[in-house]
Amino acid sequence: MMNLLITGGAGFIGSNLIRQVIDEPEISKLVNLDCLTYAGHLANLEGIHGSHPRYFFEQVDLRHQEEVIRVIRQHDITHVIHLAAESHVDRSIAGPDDFIATNINGTFHLLEACRSHWFNPETSIQMRASRFLHVSTDEVFGSLSPDAPAFTEATPCAPNSPYSASKAASDMLVRSYHHTYGLPAMITRCSNNYGPYQFPEKLIPVAIQSILYRQPVPVYGDGMNVRDWLHVGDHCEALWTVLTQGTPGGTYNIGGCNEHANLYLVQQLCDIVDELQPALGGNSRALLSFVADRPGHDRRYAIDATKLSFELGWKPAHTLEAGLRETVNWYLEHQDWVKAVTSSQRS
Ligand code: NAD
Repeated sequence: MMNLLITGGAGFIGSNLIRQVIDEPEISKLVNLDCLTYAGHLANLEGIHGSHPRYFFEQVDLRHQEEVIRVIRQHDITHVIHLAAESHVDRSIAGPDDFIATNINGTFHLLEACRSHWFNPETSIQMRASRFLHVSTDEVFGSLSPDAPAFTEATPCAPNSPYSASKAASDMLVRSYHHTYGLPAMITRCSNNYGPYQFPEKLIPVAIQSILYRQPVPVYGDGMNVRDWLHVGDHCEALWTVLTQGTPGGTYNIGGCNEHANLYLVQQLCDIVDELQPALGGNSRALLSFVADRPGHDRRYAIDATKLSFELGWKPAHTLEAGLRETVNWYLEHQDWVKAVTSSQRS
């Protein structure tokens, strides 16, 4: 049985993960630690927050070490899935400070809190069965040329943005806690996610909202930056698989085998909206508007997830076509949620 801590559970992936795992029989208690930045919203957890008997919420900032230690001890946490982070590349370029403080120092605070709770301070022997799963990104590997093979777990880190550098730094800390102290830690590195509850600052929800409101749909540079897209539900399934079956010290790549240029992706969104909302007048592709490229924009990411599927049997369940259609439908049906989370934006 586990007392599971999910950090960042009010964000995009964290809230999907909580929905997906809360009723797993292995969980005695699920604690969501989140300080609720502009990206974290309890509205993402409607039906769970405040009503599910196994669910507890701690509004705590990872930058405050004493508070993090208190949460780990008070709830006798045995398992951690660490998602909380500053996650938007453009914001990291405009102001990297929060990325260093949360992604690097915050991860350090969490690792220390777990080490002090899980190990006997005199003997350094682990006192309880536990697992620490650190959720990272394919962006730590840097950029691929068009014909280069996909990133594997052996690919060296070569991050190019303050965001990816802060994530790579936190990965290295997690790795060191396993090698130095024996902390039973694992790292996953996932490609771009899409799906419900994604804050409307990332490519897919921005594009959907722009198309619905007949605004220009911004496309960086020539639109030919390539990403590997994975439905958030498949990512969450992979995280649960690694938490429960992965080997401590292991890293696992997670990807959808869905490499596409950003331009192709937004064109698909235009076509889906045209089909689902004919009253908008069609020809949404005419709204595409090329804008100045992001500084240092990585050209291509591609993930080889063979290890995860071969060793632990994980496979994505969503095709990109069905997943995008489902996502567009979700945003069409949840315009109240979009209004609520964007109107309460605090930074
Ligand atoms: P998100 O921005 O939607 O959510 C982040 C959450 O962390 C928010 O709820 C926020 O309030 C919380 N948070 C931020 N700073 C905090 C702090 N100092 N203390 C406590 N809580 C804090 O992010 P997401 O897209 O759900 O990503 C979650 C994780 O997955 C991140 O670590 C990210 O690097 C990783 N990841 C994301 C993607 C993706 O495509 N979204 C892909 C691969 C990996």
